[in-house]
Amino acid sequence: NPRWSLNGMTALVTGGTRGIGHATVEELGGFGARVHTCSRNEEELKMCLKVWEAKGLVVTGSVCDASCREQREKLMEEVGSVFSGKLNILVNNVGTNIRKPTIKYSGEEYSKLISTNFESSFHLCQLAHPLLKASGVGSIVFISSVAGVLHIGSGSIYGATKGAMNQLTKNLACEWAKDNIRTNCVAPWYIKTSLVEHLLDNKEFLQNIICRTPLERVGEPEEVASLVAFLCLPAAAYINGQIISVDGGFTVNGFN
Ligand code: NDP
Repeated sequence: NPRWSLNGMTALVTGGTRGIGHATVEELGGFGARVHTCSRNEEELKMCLKVWEAKGLVVTGSVCDASCREQREKLMEEVGSVFSGKLNILVNNVGTNIRKPTIKYSGEEYSKLISTNFESSFHLCQLAHPLLKASGVGSIVFISSVAGVLHIGSGSIYGATKGAMNQLTKNLACEWAKDNIRTNCVAPWYIKTSLVEHLLDNKEFLQNIICRTPLERVGEPEEVASLVAFLCLPAAAYINGQIISVDGGFTVNGFN
């Protein structure tokens, strides 16, 4: 059923060697898309590409620090040449966090979080726009966070970058609809990845998360990737400008 297939489509997923990005590469590939990804660690990227090839997925990759403007430009040039100037899907997944009280952040930490989490996504959208438009059917998905909607104690700069991403979703959804590019956003609560494993290893911290989550567990990367893939399918062709939480019910749990 072509409505539930990404056959013949091309995708760029940033940060695909671990966590949510890794699961997203596999999910999009599984639906038939050709995928390009990036990360900063060349060894890990090569390893992933080998495993994906063995699994029969068509994945290519570039070493790229998405927080660096010149490297983003180079990445999009590579994407353009791998996919002959046409891109159907852009998943802005790269993101990081530094957790501390607001008054303790240095200028460098502020810049690092803004450039990695927000500026990179904004600029990659700008760079991808001609390719997305040329493909005829484009889809952008941002990996945001429930921290962009609520205070969850993960740090004010992280929350602000994700809040900015949520608003950018709405702006691009309207501005680029005429180019047949849909824009949506996925907002996860705690997902078992290398980004937060040091936190989830702490029993008390984990218990505090679980007791606020109706499903009484944290999420798996695959459970985020499935929504990302759905949003990119022809089946989701009328879904545009939405911010959807993947949170086990956390955001609707009230003052519990
Ligand atoms: P991980 O840290 O587990 O994985 C991040 C991936 O991105 C790795 O492949 C990493 O490779 C790559 N990456 C990180 N920084 C850069 C960079 N500057 N340039 C290129 N690649 C980079 O993170 P998650 O999978 O947990 O997070 C993915 C997204 O999901 C983030 O935006 C995060 O904010 C969001 N999120 C995560 C939640 C969670 O609980 N895990 C909850 C809510 C949102 P390398 O380090 O080698 O570059």
